[in-house]
Amino acid sequence: MISSESFINKVETKNARILLADDNPRMLDSLSTLLGMYEYQVDTALGGEKAIEKLSSNDYDLLLLDLKMPKVTGHDVMRYMADKNINTMTIVVSGETSLEDISLALRQGAYDYLKKPYIPEELTATVKNAVSKKLLENSHEIMQARLDRSEKLHRFIVNNSHDIIFMLDGKGCFSFLNTRIETLLNYPRDSLLSRHITSLVEDDDKDKINYLFERTMAPNSNSQSIDISIKPNGENKGKRFFELSLWRVDDESGQTNFGPSLRYMVYGTARDITERMEAEAFINFQAYHDLLTRLPNRSLFKDRLSMAITQAQRGDQQLAVMFIDLDRFKVINDSLGHTMGDRLLQAVSQRLQQCIRKGDTLSRFGGDEFTLLLPDAQTEEAATQVAEKILESIKQPFMLGGHEIYVGASIGISIYPDSGVTLDALIKNSDIAMYKVKKTGKDGYQVFSNEMNTSATERLTLEQDMRKAIENDEFEICYQPQVNIETKTICGVEALIRWNHPTLGRLSPAEFIPIAEDSRLIIDIDTHTLRKACRELRQSRVAGLPELRLAVNLSPLLIEKNNFVENILGILEDEDFPASLLELEITENVLISDRQDIVDKLIRLNKAGVNLAIDDFGTGYSSLSYLQKFPINTLKIDRSFINMIQNHDDEACLVNAIVSMAQGLKMEIVAEGVESQLQLRYLSKLGCTVVQGFLFGHPTKLESVADQFNEHPDLLTEIELH
Ligand code: C2E
Ligand code: CA
Ligand code: CA
Repeated sequence: MISSESFINKVETKNARILLADDNPRMLDSLSTLLGMYEYQVDTALGGEKAIEKLSSNDYDLLLLDLKMPKVTGHDVMRYMADKNINTMTIVVSGETSLEDISLALRQGAYDYLKKPYIPEELTATVKNAVSKKLLENSHEIMQARLDRSEKLHRFIVNNSHDIIFMLDGKGCFSFLNTRIETLLNYPRDSLLSRHITSLVEDDDKDKINYLFERTMAPNSNSQSIDISIKPNGENKGKRFFELSLWRVDDESGQTNFGPSLRYMVYGTARDITERMEAEAFINFQAYHDLLTRLPNRSLFKDRLSMAITQAQRGDQQLAVMFIDLDRFKVINDSLGHTMGDRLLQAVSQRLQQCIRKGDTLSRFGGDEFTLLLPDAQTEEAATQVAEKILESIKQPFMLGGHEIYVGASIGISIYPDSGVTLDALIKNSDIAMYKVKKTGKDGYQVFSNEMNTSATERLTLEQDMRKAIENDEFEICYQPQVNIETKTICGVEALIRWNHPTLGRLSPAEFIPIAEDSRLIIDIDTHTLRKACRELRQSRVAGLPELRLAVNLSPLLIEKNNFVENILGILEDEDFPASLLELEITENVLISDRQDIVDKLIRLNKAGVNLAIDDFGTGYSSLSYLQKFPINTLKIDRSFINMIQNHDDEACLVNAIVSMAQGLKMEIVAEGVESQLQLRYLSKLGCTVVQGFLFGHPTKLESVADQFNEHPDLLTEIELH
């Protein structure tokens, strides 16, 4: 700090404004001349009235005032100045020696007084001093005003900051806080002064803050920050998150008094990052969860599985992965709408969650697929028990929006390390096992076994073998009867292919049709099957058997072919088989492609008399609008729906809906997979007349179809017809 003495010497007194007030013009002249020599700006007032007039309209630094003037005296002038708050410095210059006058003038605020006649040196010295003092005062005032402004500004900035701003003493106790602490955390500011900063937070964060504080106090430390959470005072509100930063402020100047023993203070800010944290948490959640069901998603599942594999490996333990796929979800989604589909998925995930334990991870893998990780499944039985529990739970109807909805699940299980040791192998193999369940009737579970996984080389040899299989006549056709329950007779048969492989034995379609489709060999196989079946059936007619309708399965790839229609009609002609007795079974996904060329082909075939059936109806992905566009004669209700008919008064609502819809569209219905009397009776009551299933016979040689049927003559006798 600069002392006032030295400052005075430096003050530029030139240009100071001085007013001389006297009733004697000569006095005014002589003083003007004298002071003019010092480059002051001198003004004069002849008499008290004039002085008042000038003082009220101009600013002066100094007034040399004669006390004794007529009418308006020097005392009057000073009184006026006091009244008007004019603080021009005043030196009284007067011939009067009356002590009273002088002491009155001094009481009135005069800075000094000089006697007339004045001694020039004394006068100029006194003037110089007074002017310097006055100018110093002026500049102090300006500085003070600036300080006041700046202090106000800072206070405003500090109190309106979005951050909590505070000072800590060298022990970590608050010595200052801005008002933000009140709005953000509901703490009265004063209640925190002198309290330790850690009193705001919970135990975990206490250590973090203490550590931060220590590091901040270390010599040469830079600013440091950490994230902490603070619970608002007294309210039931959730924690807020803050980025807490501390800086050490050294007391180097000695000006700021930090207290006798404390050489440092700590300046700190706490920035509210709650929203950012919440956004981050949400983004994080979103990245690893399915928002509909709030279950972990595929990525999180894979993370957890890979961790579990590592642990199982280390501990030489087993674990299980389940692939759960809902049956019939697509139909429900399409017929009841996506909103209902979404609600069903939520309800299903809740049920699934009730079947698992704490350390297990259930995830929505996509669509209607769920995966489940059982890190503690030490035996296959442990896993299959969970699968059974899940199936049982999913089987119970779901009540959604007034609908009673039945779904089932197909579950594939893979066990580490037997079914695979890598993450991908375990997931893939559980999927394969699940697919196996789907293929063989749904609503069940399967543990993966290596036979399911036809390896790439096996597939390749199978494919090569398949090329020769037609030539070698290794494909055999089995026929399954379709029974009309009104006439109580077999009305048709479905041709189902088997492969008598020279070394692998008899293979079912599930084992080779996917490979045949991949290699497009299915086109030749289906063409061959159609021709052979037509021939066998015609021969049976020749042998005197009744005329049967022949249903043949066709791969979509065949329908794609350019000369598809010509080929089919050519075969019928070659084999002398009536078009009206042929029914081609195609799956829904052929129809949903919505391609005009396919529509045209099917219309041509239909015009030629060939019947068209939709196979596995209800399992596809489609909406039902295609039914109007295509010339469909028959709907084959998929086995999984028939399976839902488990007791008499069961709603089995989807079967009812499908049957009444088909009746509305005037289509024939074939119920597939009828296995029990109960299902037969139920279907008969619904007015469904054609049925197919193990109840009337497994697929077999054509000659045996009738014998098989006749073995149970009583099957249809009790059926009441409608
Ligand atoms: P699909 O067309 O749905 O055939 C019905 C399947 O259900 C047959 O299986 C049949 O044996 C089985 N099944 C019939 N009644 C019952 C029953 O009461 N209960 C149970 N659980 N199952 C029953 P398969 O013969 O193994 O054929 C499987 C699939 O392979 C067929 O399903 C069809 O999509 C395909 N397929 C069979 N032959 C051919 C063919 O020549 N060409 C083409 N492209 N696909 C074929
Ligand atoms: Ca079929
Ligand atoms: Ca079918």
